[in-house]
Order: sequence, then C-alpha cells, then structure tokens
Amino acid sequence: MYDVCIIGAGTVGMNIARELSKYKLSICVLEKEADVSCGCSKGNSGIVHGGYADKPGTLKAKLCVKGNRMYEKLEKELHFGYRETGSFVLAFSDEEIPTLQKLYEYGSANGVQGMKIMDAAEVKTYEPHVSAEVKAALYCRDAGVVSPYEFVIALAENAIANGVELLLKYQVESIDVSEDYFNIRSSDKTVQAKYVINAAGIYSDAIAALVGIDDYKIRPRRGQYILLDKQQSYLTNSVLFQVPTKLGKGILVTTTYHGNLMIGPNAEEIDDKDDVGTDEETLQYITKTARKSVPDIDMRKSLKSFAGNRPHSDQPEWIIEESRIKKFINLIGVDSPGLTSSPAIALMVKDILQESGLELLEKSDFIARRDPIIKTKTADFKGVIDSPDPNLNIICRCEQVTEAEIIDCLHRGIPVKSIDAVGRRTRASYGSCQNAFCGPRLRKLLARELNVPLEEIPEKGKESSDLAQRAKRMKLMKM
Ligand SMILES: Cc1cc2nc3c(=O)[nH]c(=O)nc-3n(C[C@H](O)[C@H](O)[C@H](O)COP(=O)(O)OP(=O)(O)OC[C@H]3O[C@@H](n4cnc5c(N)ncnc54)[C@H](O)[C@@H]3O)c2cc1C
Repeated sequence: MYDVCIIGAGTVGMNIARELSKYKLSICVLEKEADVSCGCSKGNSGIVHGGYADKPGTLKAKLCVKGNRMYEKLEKELHFGYRETGSFVLAFSDEEIPTLQKLYEYGSANGVQGMKIMDAAEVKTYEPHVSAEVKAALYCRDAGVVSPYEFVIALAENAIANGVELLLKYQVESIDVSEDYFNIRSSDKTVQAKYVINAAGIYSDAIAALVGIDDYKIRPRRGQYILLDKQQSYLTNSVLFQVPTKLGKGILVTTTYHGNLMIGPNAEEIDDKDDVGTDEETLQYITKTARKSVPDIDMRKSLKSFAGNRPHSDQPEWIIEESRIKKFINLIGVDSPGLTSSPAIALMVKDILQESGLELLEKSDFIARRDPIIKTKTADFKGVIDSPDPNLNIICRCEQVTEAEIIDCLHRGIPVKSIDAVGRRTRASYGSCQNAFCGPRLRKLLARELNVPLEEIPEKGKESSDLAQRAKRMKLMKM
C-alpha cells in the first residue's frame, strides 16, 4: 500500500515525485514506457518561458512565472542542463507591433521582469543574424533553454535516491475505487495506493475515464522540428520567436542547451496520440518560416527531424485539482508552458494533497543533490579512442562521450537498456555522425555491461526509421 501513486513519468509526474520525496511518504510512479520522459517531455522546444505569453490570472500565467524562477536552484541541485539565454518575439510589420505591446502588458501583470520592446537596430546588437525585415521585438531577459529529457531523468534519479519506486513498462489499464484506497492495475500487476495522481499527459483524459470522469477530451497537437549541427549555433544567442498565432507560439529558432541549432515547431491537430512522425511538406514549411527570422540557416547542416504531441484539451484552462473522486488528483491538458511550469505544478499538487488530508512530515535525510552524468571537458582533457582508461576512452567521437560516463548512466537506479536511452543521458550518438561511428561501439559496451548478447540491445524508441530520416534530410539539404 503506497501513500501516493503517480501515473506518468514525464516532467509533471517526476517533479511531483521529487517534491513529495522530501516527506515521509511511500510513493510509486507508474510509467507505461521502458524509460522516463518518453512522452511530450521529450519532444518539445526545451524553452523555459519568461511568462508573458499567457493571460494574467490564468493558471498557465501564474505557474509559468513561478516555475521559471525555480529552475536556477534546481539546476544547482540536480545538474541537468539549464541556461538563461533571454528571448525575443520578432515583429515583421507595423501591424504586429501592438501584439508586442500586449505581450509586454501581460508580462508586467504576470510579474515578469527584464522585458523591453526594442527597435530593429537594438535587436541587431544582440542578434546580428536576424532578418533585415525585423521591425521591432519584445525582449525577455528571464527566458532560458533546458535539456528537457535530462531534466526528467535527473528528477527521477533524485526521487529514487530519496525512496520513490519507479515501475516502468506498467501500463495502467483499470483503476478500482474503494472507500480508503485505489487498486491500480496493469494487465498483470496491481498497485494499491491511498492517493492517485493522474499525470499521464496526452492520456490523462483516458486515465480520468478509468474512475468514471468522462469530462475531458485531449486532441493531440503535433509539433515537428529540425535539429541542425552545432556549427549553425552562431546564428542565434537567444530564443527567437515570431508573433504568436491562435495555435500557439509559432516557429522558433533557438540554440539548444547543448549547442545545436533547432527550428520548429508547427502545430497540427491529429487523431493518433502516438503519431510522432515527421513529413517533408511540414519540414519545408518550418524551414521557410524559420528563415523569415534568420535567413542564413544552412539546411545542409540538418541532422534529424523529430516531433512531439501537445496534450491540448477541450478545456479553456489546465485542470489541476482533486477530482470529484476524493483523493484522485487530475492534471489534464498540461500543454505549453508545462515544462517551464512543472516545478511549480508540483508545489500546487503538494498543497492539494495536504488540503485533502495527507500528512506531510519532512524527512531529515532528504538528499537534494544529484551528480551530473556528463562531465565538462576542458582544453586539457586527454581523451582518445580505445584508451584503456574508461575516463579517457572516447566512445562517441562527435560529443566526446567517455566509457566512464556511459557506465555511470547505467547504474543510477533507472534501468537503461537501449542505445537511445544511453544517448538521452550522455549524448552518445547525438552528434554529427548520428550513430554511424559510435553505434557499434555503444552496442558492444552495453552488451558487456548488461551481460546480454549484442543483438538484444535495442537501437531506438519510437523515432522514424534511419532510412526515412535520411531521405527527408537529403531533400531538406537542397533547400
Ligand atoms: C511540440 C511541443 C513543444 C513544447 N514546447 C515547450 C516549451 O518550450 N516549454 C514549455 O514549458 N513547454 C513546452 N511544451 C509543453 C511540455 O512539453 C508539456 O507541457 C510537458 O512536457 C507535459 O509533461 P507531462 O509530464 O504532463 O506529460 P508527458 O511527458 O507526456 O508524460 C506523461 C507520461 O504518462 C505516461 N502514460 C500515459 N498513459 C499511461 C498509462 N496508461 N499508464 C502508465 N503511464 C502512462 C506516458 O508514457 C508519459 O511518459 C511543448 C510541448 C510540445 C509537444
């Protein structure tokens, strides 16, 4: 019998788990996939938004600003990769300038600091590569970039170190409600808990329906991206948005936390919640639109495309509440800025639990720190391919990932069994060669460490196949 069972190991579920692990509670997290952060917490822009985009007074506005302010401390404790970069919303015509003013007013009302509307000449002093067509921009100092899946991995590792149990490949299929507790069942297992937190992202409507709450419908809104080589990152220092549309924040150009240029996402309503494929027509649209902000983007440097599905609901606001089923907490439709807001959402859920009668007694032995996996390589780093010293033996040439880093990531409490899962933790296979050099070396190392035959090491999760990727890339490179 657990005190709290959290369904879903994305940024929302794992922030809640880590926050609750500060108290004397028994907690489990149930996740249907083989790793944490396999939902939309993996496929997103990785922007810690400033907090000017949402209407004052809404949950999104409040939680975004509060979450943004929590990142610096979290990064110091958990070392997942966060950097404040600032952001611009670019206006390309006089008609777009009133929108900048409106966003500025939203931001001021939401308590965002460090904003300024700049003319084109001032924008150019920060961002020399933006288009000559830019007329003005809203600057926001407090926006930043984060490595979103490393954030969730760090939260999960730290929550586990503080006693949280993570059950992977546990797809919740039914929930029985009794007077004092819930039975949460997969096809072959049952977990019992006094409180259930529904943090199942795009499937949160389906999980709510398991306890008879049929009130919500989530319609996925897919966003596709193109990731480019680090050589292109000179094109922007900060996050470059365009003026938002009805469907969202529009196509951005940004340098990721690890220094790749990234462009996207579009917004398209789709039916299949699991369809994270990309298509040529959309990638061409993204390229064209991103070049409106930064004309010099060189598509010959594109590495891969990917997509994520926003859990957009039919409700005007995020639903974060104890539902009409007592002790069953719903988090429905947490789309953007859900990544930014997730640390603040965890605090809100903690308060909801307390108000509902859960006793929260602080632990004296809570471990706040989690060590980084990726070690900073300074100029005197002497790594070589095939060194007998694991700290110097380079497995991934492009990203300079050592054998020691890969071994470390396998022994941190979350089972890591695929090349993809190692990549998310260490960046091995994430460089320009996209797996060509390090793939076989990684597979050999994993087979040795996990003591399994080579052919049992799976390559990838749900991404599109290498061949399809390559064909799309060839077409993009001609743009
Ligand atoms: C294209 C795009 C761009 C975005 N950009 C940004 C951004 O720049 N900044 C920002 O702040 N936000 C952004 N967001 C929003 C942000 O990514 C989400 O709000 C956030 O990741 C939601 O986290 P989550 O934990 O609720 O969902 P998820 O990460 O999807 O986690 C839910 C988990 O529940 C699991 N699950 C589902 N059903 C079951 C079941 N039956 N049993 C067990 N487990 C189950 C899933 O496998 C999944 O791991 C973006 C989103 C998208 C898609």
